[in-house]
Amino acid sequence: MQISKEQLALVNDRINALVSAGNFYGKKLAAAGVTRVDSPEEFEKLPFSEKADLRDAYPLGLMTAPEEEIVRIHSSSGTTGLPVIIPYTAKDVDDWGEMFKRCYETAGITKHDRIQITPGYGLWTAGIGFQNGAEKLGAMVVPMGPGNTDKQIKMMIDMKTTVLCATSSYALLLGEEINKRGLRDKICLKKGVIGSERWSEKMRAQIHELLGIELFDIYGLTEIYGPGIGINCPGEQYMHMWDDYVYTEIIDPKTGKTLPDGEWGEIVLTTLVKGGAPLIRYRTHDLSRIVPVKCKCGKSYPLIDIIKGRTDDMMKIHGVNVFPAHVEEVIAKFPELDVEYQIRLSHLDGKDTMRLYIEAKSGLSDFGDLAKEVAQAFKSSIGFTPIVKVVEQGILPRSEKKAKRVIDERFEE
Ligand code: ZN
Repeated sequence: MQISKEQLALVNDRINALVSAGNFYGKKLAAAGVTRVDSPEEFEKLPFSEKADLRDAYPLGLMTAPEEEIVRIHSSSGTTGLPVIIPYTAKDVDDWGEMFKRCYETAGITKHDRIQITPGYGLWTAGIGFQNGAEKLGAMVVPMGPGNTDKQIKMMIDMKTTVLCATSSYALLLGEEINKRGLRDKICLKKGVIGSERWSEKMRAQIHELLGIELFDIYGLTEIYGPGIGINCPGEQYMHMWDDYVYTEIIDPKTGKTLPDGEWGEIVLTTLVKGGAPLIRYRTHDLSRIVPVKCKCGKSYPLIDIIKGRTDDMMKIHGVNVFPAHVEEVIAKFPELDVEYQIRLSHLDGKDTMRLYIEAKSGLSDFGDLAKEVAQAFKSSIGFTPIVKVVEQGILPRSEKKAKRVIDERFEE
């Protein structure tokens, strides 16, 4: 898949706007002597944009349209240092809503649905993004925001909610609570639209089993509108990306070279029509691949695979690169094990040590040789032996937002 003539024309419009605004990317282009791109090869030589560039532009250095056209800002959660501020024009907000509406439609959700939104509202793009799209669709929104599980379940029952929008961790927590309280036959949920963190196949199966709903993966990030720039078709794991708004490339995260379709690498995104804060070749650090097949739905929007992890989730242990997805693949081989786990990395007596805590399925309390078998399975698939502890279900921390499953204590005092 190469960038088309029409997409290149849109990129050139963005280049002009960025150069006129004189922000960080405009300066990068000027330094590289680039005023326009006329071929896919020229496009692939454009400099990347990085999260650090966006942080350096704090507070409003990314603003590319005149200020009177800016109607809103959003901010990405900066865990370290300054947050990133993204300005939106009215058209950006509208375009985002259109993309999100297309996501709901792809999932077979209609104006007859009732959509309960549990991701957070405010500076974060999540809640309000889910809401814009649902209102454009004409569905009834139950705008809950995060937390307060008792009230969530009560509203879900009383409002006869049919669609749950949540992070995978929160969908799992709600599913566990609903079943624990014996309320499964009181809920009317049919579908779940799950976004904002990577989740395993096993977790997907578990949420499906607990709530009996069809699940959809929604993709997006605050820097590029927010959630809603892509979603999977019913029964398919691949996600369509709305390439009339955002152009997707996959690059080798080490060399920065654009990879051929089908190869795994880092997702790099270019906004084609964004006015408030256009981004060209933005490095997401999400790992996926472009899937070079035609979807059975007949839509020609390009497909990407499930997000396998983050380039920065990569843990280097005993010289081996390990992703959380690898750990999940090993866990999935054991039917006695549940989906929650925690990895702790420490540095003891001059050596890296990986401790892996995994929850057993509910009701299981005699773990026998399970931990030993998991450690052996790890050794044969990844190449070293971690210290494995199997724990009872419910012991590991649950999150209403994004779960933190890897704790690296190697670099602390
Ligand atoms: Zn499709």
